[in-house]
Amino acid sequence: MTTTTSSSTAAASSSSLTSAPFRASPLFFHPLPASHVPLPGKEAHGSYMLQVPWSKTSGWGQAKIVPRADISIDPLSGVTQYAVTCFEGMKCYKTESGELTLFRPNENFNRFKVSAARMGLPSDWDNAELLDLLCKLLALEAPIVPSEDGASLYIRPTLIETSESFGIKEDGNAGEALMYIVTTLNLGKGLYASSEKAETGLRVDADPNYVRAWSNGTGKYKVGANYGVVNIAKKPGFQMSLWLHGSEDFVSEAGAMNVFILKEASDGVLEFVTMSLDNGIVLPGITRASIISLLKDHASGKKEFPLEGVPKNIRVVERDIPMKDIMDGAEDGSLKGMFGCGTGVVVVSIREIQYRGRLISIPYHPVVKILRDTITGIQRGRIEKEDWVVKVPKWQGVVNGEKEAEGQKVIA
Ligand SMILES: *Cc1c(COP(=O)(O)O)cnc(C)c1O
Repeated sequence: MTTTTSSSTAAASSSSLTSAPFRASPLFFHPLPASHVPLPGKEAHGSYMLQVPWSKTSGWGQAKIVPRADISIDPLSGVTQYAVTCFEGMKCYKTESGELTLFRPNENFNRFKVSAARMGLPSDWDNAELLDLLCKLLALEAPIVPSEDGASLYIRPTLIETSESFGIKEDGNAGEALMYIVTTLNLGKGLYASSEKAETGLRVDADPNYVRAWSNGTGKYKVGANYGVVNIAKKPGFQMSLWLHGSEDFVSEAGAMNVFILKEASDGVLEFVTMSLDNGIVLPGITRASIISLLKDHASGKKEFPLEGVPKNIRVVERDIPMKDIMDGAEDGSLKGMFGCGTGVVVVSIREIQYRGRLISIPYHPVVKILRDTITGIQRGRIEKEDWVVKVPKWQGVVNGEKEAEGQKVIA
């Protein structure tokens, strides 16, 4: 494994010095049996899963790559009772030459640590070891990773508390946990596929009765509880919620995406405005950070490649965005566009907002497509940005140079 650095800055205090560290090897690998048929309805998922168990007393157990299957957990486990779980969302891409790539995986693993520590889950793994395991899992799924633009294999690293947890615990940290990674095909044909066209942007519902996150809450962590409790907020006919908070109905995010508005400032500069990360309400998106970095490089002229078509005279602003700004800007013409961004959607236009009995139309701006094409171009290797892309080495469950018989359990 080449391109990672490990970070244990967010390591939880819950694992003692004597407990086993997180290790990619020896790996327990169970190839798919020849007779393997996916369960009904699960055909679009990767065939394998990675599992690494953890316990407070013994630390990390042996990593396993096994055929994807249901897992069994105690009915009073922390995850089933109190949503003691966190996750990540990543994608594996296939380049034109057939190589598999990941986009800034270390950023996901660092955020995973921060979320885990917040939940009292173990967070002391070595990112390089985890990347090694993820790459092996992905190499096994290589045949199903799609190579069309916008399509990918979606990756869901997950960490759950498996130990019983229903009373008040003296120690708030988990006793036992399971990290697993599963994958699923993303053919890019969902709701968000066609963000390039003005008429196909998202319609979002901004309902002040449902608040996703608040100051010093858990909004900035990717923890399961943030998502389940607001599923029902959006009304039929809208693709997602536009999340509001605070006295002036400030916009934080949309669905599970960070949001930018495009505004022509009084000095004529085109501003890319997004909520700041300061008060912990907004999830620190890696797509958001990447877009900010590309735009700042573009504006300062020190970019490695041009964002062709994006005006030079731009500014990135991180601040609160009251709904009034959006309504006023839509009326006086200073609002030039709005988009959401995240691993799932990449970059997608927002075209209409339902808010307090009104429908606000948002103009379409062509930079949305430029940003989307730039990010997907980097991910799929068409645009070179080496520090953001990790190549997945080939691996076929080969042990000591020999391919093991199908269905045979081996330790690699
Ligand atoms: C995952 C997520 C994002 C996007 O983060 P990326 O790292 O860009 O994928 C934004 N908002 C929320 C609420 C999220 O869960």
